[in-house]
Amino acid sequence: MASGDKGSAGGNQPVVTRFAPSPTGFLHIGNARTGLFSWLYARHFGGKTLLRIEDTDKQRSTKEAIDVILDGLDWLGLDFDGETHFQSHFEARHAEVANQLLEKGAAYRCYLTQDELAERRERAKAERRPFRIDSEWRDCDPADRPQDRPYVIRLKAPKEGETVIEDLVQGRVAVSNSELDDLVLLRSDGSPTYMLAVVVDDHDMGVTHVIRGDDHLNNAFRQLAIIRAMDWPEPQYAHVPLIHGSDGAKLSKRHGALGVDAYRDELGILPEALFNYLLRLGWGHGDREEFTQDEAVTLFDIADVGKSPSRFDMKKLLSLNAHYIREADDARLADLVAPRIGEEADTALLARAMPVLKTRAHDLNELAEGANFLFATRPLTLTLTEKAEALLTQDAKRLLGRVSARLHEERDWTTAVLESNLKQMAEELGLGLGKLAQPLRAALTGQTTSPGIFDVLALLGKEESLARIDAQALHPDEDKD
Ligand code: GLU
Repeated sequence: MASGDKGSAGGNQPVVTRFAPSPTGFLHIGNARTGLFSWLYARHFGGKTLLRIEDTDKQRSTKEAIDVILDGLDWLGLDFDGETHFQSHFEARHAEVANQLLEKGAAYRCYLTQDELAERRERAKAERRPFRIDSEWRDCDPADRPQDRPYVIRLKAPKEGETVIEDLVQGRVAVSNSELDDLVLLRSDGSPTYMLAVVVDDHDMGVTHVIRGDDHLNNAFRQLAIIRAMDWPEPQYAHVPLIHGSDGAKLSKRHGALGVDAYRDELGILPEALFNYLLRLGWGHGDREEFTQDEAVTLFDIADVGKSPSRFDMKKLLSLNAHYIREADDARLADLVAPRIGEEADTALLARAMPVLKTRAHDLNELAEGANFLFATRPLTLTLTEKAEALLTQDAKRLLGRVSARLHEERDWTTAVLESNLKQMAEELGLGLGKLAQPLRAALTGQTTSPGIFDVLALLGKEESLARIDAQALHPDEDKD
C-alpha cells in the first residue's frame, strides 16, 4: 500500500473512484459530500468516477428512492462515468465469489443456528468477555458436515497479527486480528451480505480508491480480509469524517441533516452554493471561500481533508447562498422563483426586477417573498402588514395625496427621474426623504421593507403605482378632518 504519498494517486494506474449510496428515500447531505469528494478526486487525477446504487434492501429501494439520489446528484452537477450500476444485479456474482472462497479453503459452511449463537452471546456477556464467533465448523472434517441443515458461508478471518490500513485521511490505523470475526459472506437463503457485495463490486468495477464516510472504517478491516483471501489488488481507502451539528453533536434533522432535495425545494438553496458549502466542509484551500467546479477539480486533494468532524453551519450556507444569488443570472433566478410565487408570477417582470430584488435575499423563498408585491392584482389585493398599516396615519395619507398629484404629472417614469422628482418634493416640503418614502413604500408594497422606493415605482409602472398610492391617499377633496 502506498503510504507516504498521501493524496497523490500514486503509480501509473488510472484512478477509479465510486459513490455507493443505499436508497433510503433521501440523499443525505453528508452522503452527498462523500460523493462530491469521490467525484472530485477522480476528476482531479483524470480518472473515472462510478455510481453504484446499493439496492439490496428491496423494500427500501423503490424507484422513487433511487430517483431522489439520481436527481440530487444531477442537480449538484456530479456526473458519473458510464452507466449506473445496481448492486442487486450482481447477486449471482457475489455467490460465485463466496463459493470460490469456499473452494480455496478461505471460507467454510457454518451450521451454527440462531439459538446457538444467541446462547454463546449470552454466555460471553455473563462472563464479561467480548463475544467472538468461534465456530466448530471452521476446521471440521468435511465428512462430518450435515447434509440437510441450512448453513451460512463464513470467511475464515485471520486470527493472528494485525491488519493495518494506511488511510488517506485517517493516516495509519491498525486493528488486532483477534478482534475480527468470521463474518458471514452468504446467508442461508443464498443472499450475499453487504460486506461481500461491496468488496466484489468494487473489485469488478476496478475501483482503486474507496472514499466514503468514516462510519465504514471498521468495515474496511473486514473487507480487506475478503480482498486478501481472494488475492485481489487492495484499494486505497480514504475515510472522511462525518459532519456534525453546530453544537458538535452528531448531525440530526434539527441541525440540517436533510436530504439534498430539501435544500433545493424547501430551503431554496442554489446548487453552486451547496456544492461550495459541502466542498469547504472539511476541505480548504487557504482562506478561499468560493470555487467554481473547475477550480475545485484543479485544487482538490484528499490529503487536505481534515481528520476531525466538520460542523454544519446553516448561517454560513445561507450567506454563501446569498452571494451566489447575487451572482446568478437574472432570467435563471426568475425561472426558479416564479413557481414559488404562483400562477400570477410574470417571469419577464421578475427578471427585470431581479437586479434590485436579489441584493437582499439569502434564499429563493426570501427572493419570492420580496417579489410578491409585484404581483398584487387589481382590484387591489395588496394586503398590508401591521407595521405598514401603522405607517399610514392620516398625515401620511394626506402626504400620499400630494405625492399622487405630483406623480400624475410625471411623464418620464424612470428610476432616476422619479428619484430627483421626489427628492425635490421632500425638500420643498421641508421633510426628510424617509418621511415621504415610508408611507409610499407601505402603499406600494404593503410592507415596511422593500427594494429602493424609486426602483419599486419604476418596476410597477405609472398606472399600477398610482392606483396603489391612490388606494391609500387622502386627496384634498375627500379630506374631511
Ligand atoms: N451503501 C453504503 C452507505 O450508503 C456505502 C458503502 C460503501 O461506501 O462502501 O453507507
